[in-house]
Amino acid sequence: MPRTSYVAVGAAAVFAAFLVLILGDWPFGPHLSLIDDLVFVAMSVPPVTFSLLTARAVEGRMRLAWLSLAIGLLGWGIGEALWAYYEIRLHEVPFPSIADAAYLVFPVGACVALLLFPVGHTTQSRWRLFLDGMIVAGSLFLVSWVTILAPLYHSDQSDRLAFIVSLAYPISDLVIFTVAGVVLVRVSGPYRLSLTLLTLGLACFALSDSAFVYLTAKSEYASGNVIDIGWAAGLLLIAVAAVAGRQGAYEHGSAVALPGWASVWLPFAPLILAGLVLAAKPAPLLESRVVLVVTALLVVIVIARQFVSVGENRRLVATVVDQALHDSLTGLANRALFNERLAQAMRMHEREGLPLAVVAVDLNDFKLVNDNLGHLVGDDLLIGVAHRLLNCVRASDTVARVGGDEFAVLVDGGAETAEGVGHRVVEAFEEPFLLSGHELLIRPSIGLATAEPDEPDLSVEQLLKRADIAMYTAKRSRASAVQTYSPEMQLLADADDKRLFGAPPPQPGLGAAAAIQLLGKLRVAIEHSELTLVYQPKFDLRTGEIVGAEALLRWPQPDGTVLAPDQFLPLVRRHGLMGSVTQLVIGKALDDARSWHRAGADVSVAVNLFAPSVANVDLPETIAHALADHGLRPSALTVEITEELFMDSTERTRTVLEELRHNGIRIAIDDFGSGYSALSYLRDLPIDEVKLDRTFIASILIDQRAAAVVRAVVDLAHVLGLTVVVEGVEDEQTAALVRELGCDIGQGFFYALPLPPDELLEMVKTAVSGSLQGRRC
Ligand code: C2E
Ligand code: CA
Ligand code: CA
Repeated sequence: MPRTSYVAVGAAAVFAAFLVLILGDWPFGPHLSLIDDLVFVAMSVPPVTFSLLTARAVEGRMRLAWLSLAIGLLGWGIGEALWAYYEIRLHEVPFPSIADAAYLVFPVGACVALLLFPVGHTTQSRWRLFLDGMIVAGSLFLVSWVTILAPLYHSDQSDRLAFIVSLAYPISDLVIFTVAGVVLVRVSGPYRLSLTLLTLGLACFALSDSAFVYLTAKSEYASGNVIDIGWAAGLLLIAVAAVAGRQGAYEHGSAVALPGWASVWLPFAPLILAGLVLAAKPAPLLESRVVLVVTALLVVIVIARQFVSVGENRRLVATVVDQALHDSLTGLANRALFNERLAQAMRMHEREGLPLAVVAVDLNDFKLVNDNLGHLVGDDLLIGVAHRLLNCVRASDTVARVGGDEFAVLVDGGAETAEGVGHRVVEAFEEPFLLSGHELLIRPSIGLATAEPDEPDLSVEQLLKRADIAMYTAKRSRASAVQTYSPEMQLLADADDKRLFGAPPPQPGLGAAAAIQLLGKLRVAIEHSELTLVYQPKFDLRTGEIVGAEALLRWPQPDGTVLAPDQFLPLVRRHGLMGSVTQLVIGKALDDARSWHRAGADVSVAVNLFAPSVANVDLPETIAHALADHGLRPSALTVEITEELFMDSTERTRTVLEELRHNGIRIAIDDFGSGYSALSYLRDLPIDEVKLDRTFIASILIDQRAAAVVRAVVDLAHVLGLTVVVEGVEDEQTAALVRELGCDIGQGFFYALPLPPDELLEMVKTAVSGSLQGRRC
């Protein structure tokens, strides 16, 4: 397809030649008509062709628009060919004839095309556009009727059909011209150029058509008349418009613009003009049937137009109201709507005791995503979160985004329903988010507060504050379980107000820039299996034997230093690398266990699992395969799981644990006593071993109550058939005391530091040979 500018230059040249032909004093005589006819047939080819080409190049409604314009132009071309035929063969053109039927396809096609033109993001409908066009056309018709057409009509009564057909030209031109004008004042962006050219072309047509009617009425028209210039110009302008229309389709301008004032007054200016002209005319003329009918029609159309615009305004207002109440990014309710719905629900609560609950959800580490991966990724994450939240609630609940990364759910129901929603939210975040190629595991902190019937005076603010306090409690403990508000939380919050309502506690570790750099290196290190394991032996406190070793992850750096887990595991957790790290750790630990076994040391190995890895239903099978591949018995492996897992223990994690245990793998609950451990876990969960947390052990020497608690836990664990491991034993006195308290196995710097695999083997062999026995344990 040629460029617009080339076609425009070509069109200008053709037009100049046409002017020379028509205006020049050529000795063509009667041949002028013939030449003129053939020139017109030829000139209708480019606009048809270009319109078709443009229709092929664009899509959707634009395609239909250009197609119907092409059909209209083709009609006109056929009319022209028929006209030429009449002139050449009959030396006279009958009027009206089939040629007129063909010509009149053009205004229909053009009108349809104009109405199909996209008018940008306007709030006004196509109906209104059409009605505006009708008002303008009707008014202009009235003006031309009372000034030119009526006198003509009354002067020549001989051939009514001919008169009506000849009238069809200027009237249809009037209609399309006005529709073009109406569309033009609204259209913006890429289609403006082609539409302007098209409108100009149509205007040229309209001028010639009117002149044609006038001359035909006086039987003064013949081809080659000066008025032909208008049609020639029209055809050429439309050809250029078609080419420009194709280029326009590639430029995307979609500014949302309110229609300008022109589009508001446009239909009324001709209406006023018609009123003024009519007022100046004598009464009998005004009483003619045509004037009365058209005036009546105009009244109906104006009323219809007002109805349409009232409808549009209502829609517009509804849209604005809707936008004012919704978050534009996620489409969720915003804080205003949430508060409104909450206030309403609270009124129902007060009056009829209907229970309701608020679940506050805040994303952990959202800032890190925003800072490191950019705001677009952050936005995508928020949209994804909104989507997941909506899937967790029923239609009667309201999900709102009440702040940057803060969401709230208004649950229509009591504590049980709300807890159900909370648990579904926890589960919804178990899958990582896939954002521009990154797998991000994002955890929410979830707080829940309910308004129960026994507290009818609870205010909206109090309820919201309670949900917030519960949420901050969840954030503080870093637990991904739902925290339900309790009055104790309130006490804690009051005591620690600043920390609770100020910024959430910062992440341990690095600044954002360093973190992202480290993340890149970490991915490579995992991929190249550069992370290593050291093993801290576990001693049987009665025999002094090494009964196992815990695998602890290390990341050796090129400069010879080694990073400890707390320096890079947060990144692993946050960026969805847990699956690959777990796989790497299990692989390496089993490799080492195999070589120890081959060397004759029967040491079982313990690996630490991330809580979310345990929700992976494929884990038992993966581990079973890995054990089989290494030719190891399942009892050679222990998995350590932190208690955080049990706080929001889901069906899935429980199933995974049960299956692991069923397969013969030992399960240890790690860091027991560091957080919110409940003794009931020991009874309820499928575990074999309890590892008492280091901080818990640290105080037993100085705090008798702590020692008593340890003893109670040990006794209970023994009743339940569990092995008790103490970790973090750093000195001899503690070692003696934990033995006395009945612990079974000890681990800590006092007994041994974490060691590379070969050194561990060495130690096992030495220990077996008795050198350690009795000395340390
Ligand atoms: P953890 O599972 O509680 O591991 C014990 C941590 O206590 C180890 O720190 C160990 O070096 C340290 N430790 C051992 N004895 C003593 C002692 O007497 N006193 C003191 N103060 N500390 C002692 P490490 O290796 O830095 O590991 C920290 C945490 O990182 C681990 O805590 C575990 O939660 C996590 N971790 C380590 N390796 C892995 C792994 O392969 N996978 C996963 N998922 N987590 C791991
Ligand atoms: Ca551990
Ligand atoms: Ca531990």
